[in-house]
Amino acid sequence: MEAPFALYVHVPWCRHVCPYCDFNVYASSSVPETDDVRAYRGELDAWAARAEWSGRRPETVYLGGGTPSLLSPSAIEAVLDAARRLGLREDAEVTLEANPGTLTTERLAGYRAAGVTRLSLGAQSFQPALLRTLGRDHTADQTRAAMESVRAAGFGNVSLDLIFGVPGQSLAAWEDDLARALALAPEHVSAYALTWEEGTPFDVWRARGRLVPVDDDLESAMIDAAAEHLGVAGFRRYEISSWARAGFESRHNTRYWDGTDYLGIGPGAHSFCATPGRRRWWNLRLPHRWRDAVAARGTAVDGEELLTEAEARADFVITGLRRLAGADIVEFERRFTIAVHAAFPQLAHLERDGLVEIRATRLRLTPRGLRFADTVGALLV
Ligand code: SF4
Repeated sequence: MEAPFALYVHVPWCRHVCPYCDFNVYASSSVPETDDVRAYRGELDAWAARAEWSGRRPETVYLGGGTPSLLSPSAIEAVLDAARRLGLREDAEVTLEANPGTLTTERLAGYRAAGVTRLSLGAQSFQPALLRTLGRDHTADQTRAAMESVRAAGFGNVSLDLIFGVPGQSLAAWEDDLARALALAPEHVSAYALTWEEGTPFDVWRARGRLVPVDDDLESAMIDAAAEHLGVAGFRRYEISSWARAGFESRHNTRYWDGTDYLGIGPGAHSFCATPGRRRWWNLRLPHRWRDAVAARGTAVDGEELLTEAEARADFVITGLRRLAGADIVEFERRFTIAVHAAFPQLAHLERDGLVEIRATRLRLTPRGLRFADTVGALLV
């Protein structure tokens, strides 16, 4: 049987753009849904005819953004219909990212009927002052109401996104966010440290002194607090930023961390195919240019690169180390026909320093290594 792959659908629209965000997103009060859906379907049909994906079936779909919940249930259904023509498996995990304030029970029931099986809700914080700092356009009450609607619509697999390390955030405020998130009984929590992305308003405001990042010690304490509170509540950390109840780990993201091929459609979406040629490519970023290209030639590829052997090896190991289970060294040797220690002599030092370890067939970060994941990654490049 041909290897399965993961399908990503990028929805570039948001009601407004948050000042810390550097995704390929555009503010719009009215989404050009009909045109976008036509382009998504056209792009999927074009890829279905290409050799890379021929005979292969997506086993996960992730509708990310942006704010995919700005699309109507019938639009989501039309996109998933096209994914079914690509062979979408019956038992596929289909995740939709949603923002509080865009949801009603009726709309959510429509997504479920369309085939969405999992929701990722962008709560970010429950503190009014921090939501204002982050420039979010929803309230904590809207997050609580959204969660009620999600359950009323019958979803049993829900992830909440939280951000920590926000300027002005105290450890107590972060612990309060964790408690309020847990009170909503999600199956999965993603807790991301705020990152200061070049060119964003946040980055400019930091340079001008208007925003002051939290210090490293406080950020470390926040990670420890997340591990403690989520662990006590029965969640298992399975990736640097991801915690889940047993059986609710994100299948889509786990595939990605394990080096599985993925096809991205929509403006600016990235794709990767290990064979032939370890090829990575990306779409045109501007929505109208993406739509025009799909209408003219079926796909909207803007550029591509062929990874060198060394780049592909590093990519596989660094991405795999994001998982607490670690990178699969048997699969590494099968794929690259070289032992992992021969490919990365620096591993011996990292093991001696207690940053990584081999457990059975996995190379993984130790608890100490988890704190220095970026440094370990940089040493492996
Ligand atoms: S809602 Fe999400 S994707 Fe949209 S601008 Fe804000 S952070 Fe970015």
